[in-house]
This record gives sequence, C-alpha cells and structure tokens, in this order.
Amino acid sequence: MTETDKNAVLNFLLETGCCKRCALRYIGDAGADYDNPQQNGHDQGAKKTKLNPCIICLDLLQDVTLESMIQCQELEKVKEYDCKTFINFISFPIAVLIREHSMEIYMNEKFPKFFEDHYIVPINRAWSLSIQNKLGEKLGKKFNKDSLLQIQFNTSYEFEKEESSIMFLMESKLKKNNEENEGLSRNVIGEFLKTINTELFKKHASVPPEIPRKALSFDQMTYKHDFIFIAGRYCKFSRNLFQTPWANDEVQVINSSVQEILFESLENVFKCSSLVFSSSGREDFDVRMLGRGRPFFIKICDPKVTKISFEQFRSIEKQIEKTNLIKVRDLQFISRKLVNNIKEGEQFKQKTYRALCVVDKSDKISDYIEKINKLRSLKLQQKTPLRVYHRRSSDIRAREIYSIEARSVTGADNLFELDVVTQAGTYVKEFVHGDLGRTKPSLSEIIGGYVDIIALDVLDIHLDFPPRLNKKQDSIE
Ligand SMILES: [Zn+2]
Repeated sequence: MTETDKNAVLNFLLETGCCKRCALRYIGDAGADYDNPQQNGHDQGAKKTKLNPCIICLDLLQDVTLESMIQCQELEKVKEYDCKTFINFISFPIAVLIREHSMEIYMNEKFPKFFEDHYIVPINRAWSLSIQNKLGEKLGKKFNKDSLLQIQFNTSYEFEKEESSIMFLMESKLKKNNEENEGLSRNVIGEFLKTINTELFKKHASVPPEIPRKALSFDQMTYKHDFIFIAGRYCKFSRNLFQTPWANDEVQVINSSVQEILFESLENVFKCSSLVFSSSGREDFDVRMLGRGRPFFIKICDPKVTKISFEQFRSIEKQIEKTNLIKVRDLQFISRKLVNNIKEGEQFKQKTYRALCVVDKSDKISDYIEKINKLRSLKLQQKTPLRVYHRRSSDIRAREIYSIEARSVTGADNLFELDVVTQAGTYVKEFVHGDLGRTKPSLSEIIGGYVDIIALDVLDIHLDFPPRLNKKQDSIE
C-alpha cells in the first residue's frame, strides 16, 4: 500500500468520526507513535478530527480519557509494590466491540483492496501502547508483558442500550449453547462477531457506527501482584500443637498452630493480602515432628514485598524458633513448578517414625521385641480409623511398612521403643494397637498381646523438598 492510500484511508476514517488513534489502528500501524498521535508522518495534511466522541472507541483512546487514568489516585498505592515492572489491562464496554466490528465491515466495503491484506491494530493493544510509557513514568516502573504486577482499568458506557438490538440477538443465539452462562464474556462475544453473517449483523446494528451521544467513562482501577511461593521444612517440638487452626463446636480449644505461627511472622514481611499453607502430609497435635522437618509451602497472595534476601529469610527463621514450639529451615522462594513437585512426590515418599510403646505383660517384653525384630516388611490393609471416622469417608487403604525395629527401654520393663519406616499415609497408631481389628495385620496381633503408643515422633520425611540450602545455613545451626 502506498502512502497516498494510507492518507486517503486515514482521512476517510477521521471524516467518518474516528479519533486519531483509531485511524492509526486501521491503517495497521503498530509502530506508530500512539503516545503522541499528532507527531505521525501520516498525519500530514489530515483534516481536523471531528468533535464528536470517537464512533469506535467511544474516546477510550483519547488524551482526556488516558489522562484521567494516569491521574487516578489509586496509582499512588501501586507505587508501594517493590516490583519494578507492571503490565496494564483495559476492560471496555461491549458497545466498543460491536462498533469495531461495524467499522471493519464498513471499511472493507469502502476500501476492499486496501483491506485485503492488512492488519488492524486491536483496541486494547493501541490503548496499551498509548498509556504504558506515561504510566511507567508515573509509577517509576517499567512496562513488561510478563510482569506479575497487574493493573486493570475499567470503563463503562451509559448508552449501552443503543446497541440493544444486536445485543439481544447475541444473547438469544449464545444462550442456546451456553445455558448456564448468565452474562456474556468479551471473549464469547468476540468469537461470535467473527462468525456472524454480515447481512444479519447489518439488520441489527448500524454500519458505519452511529455518532455516539457521549464518550465512555473511566470508572476505577484495580491492581494486584500475582501469587508468589515460599517453601521450607518445619519441626514441631510440642505435643500440644495442631498443624492448622483447630476448632471444636466453634470454640477454639488450642489457640495456636504451626500455620498461625508461620503466618504471624510472614504477613508483615510480605505485606500481603492473605497466605495459604500447604504441607506434605500432617501430624497429629500430640506428635512431634523432628529431624529435618516436614516440607511445606506457602502461597503468598498480592505481596507488596517480593524481594527478600538470604539473610532476611534466616532472621525470619530465628524469630520463629523463639516460640520454642516450632522451628523452620531452608526457607526460600520457589517456583510454581516446584510446588507441583511436592504434590507429585507425595504418594511416593516414605516416613520414619519413632514410637514409645507400652504393653501390659512386662514379663513378656523381651519375647515381644524378639518377634518384632524378626519382621522385615509388611503389607497392611487399613480401614479408616475410628478416630478420624467423623471427618473421612470409610475406605480401605493398602499401605506398606518397609522396615521395623524394636528395642528395650532402660529402667522401664513395660515399655519399648519402636522405629518404623512406612509408606506415606500409613496410620501408625492404628498399625500398633490394631484399631479393634480395623488394621490388619497389626503389631498387637503379631505379638499376641496388648500394645499401644504413648508417644510418637516423626523422625524423617523422605522427600527432597525444598532444595537444601548451602553450607552457610547448616553452619548456623
Ligand atoms: Zn477511537
């Protein structure tokens, strides 16, 4: 296409009632200076823009609208994020989509040759190009399409009803396929407009678009930083601490938990809206978690602070350790991909437990220990334990004990210590006492007598998550 063609099309668009930026979009100029449309080469000799609101974008791309966005008070709060980049999104009225479609039909009819092999710059792209530099300047941040800090501008149009005929048609057509869907999304409408028969469209909407009575208006902006994840391993030294907040009959019985201790120390650091805790399994409130601890990760929602140094992580760990209830190690940022690893690793992992067991026949204890130490591995069938019956549906789990070892306890002839390595998800307490025959085989059945656990510790969870931190970390301990 020649420069003359371009100018002819450009002038025609301006005459028809488009704004300068929309006119630039239609001649397919993605590289044009959307920041400053007056400075464009194409503009030479262009006639004056009409004074009506733009018949396509309803003035979304006009300086006055862009300026009202840049001057938005809320942007001051976006400055509080430590993220150095941002990405901006626009939500515009459906009327704009309809008008854009109408204009495309019109221009294809008027200039069929010109529009044979060209590309119209989409409105949202032109809007982004028009505002991103000014926005970046205002925020002291750089536009980046991969940024996790998202700023969304919303606009509305009070004369949406002008398009009621075509809207009604779309709703009736689309609702048939999409019974459940109440409002129609922009994407669904966009797809519909791509396929609608031109004659049918013309029956329900005006081509070219009519001069609008008013411009759209900028309503509000919203912003948020995408989730980030941190991970670590925790040890729990208390036999009176739940992993997550626990309530009974809506009365909280124990006023702390591993999760609450962690959250308390993280909320202020990340200045986030909320935190979500996940771990590789859980222990009962009366079970200690020792050794290298239990792998966990925390999803941090909308963090204002995303840059934490190695030393800061270590000082968070120290602060947590001061509670004397739990301790955390290997605290670090992790990627989404690693979060999936912990979920996948779940079913394959093994756990090592140490239990203090009690029997009623102390004269038989050495006989019991001998019987246990003859065992190698065991395959168990475990019905849902009675103690968790109220919150889990009943089923039978097949689980494996990989190794087992018992030894006597000095000075106590009715006790022995038991080390077991189990498959993840094994109910260890039930394996020992048998749960009234619901776990088979059980230790009680094997030794042929009463046996129960009086204290249980998890010694290790054999899952390498998150990556161990370097020696620097180990030497602090
Ligand atoms: Zn426009």
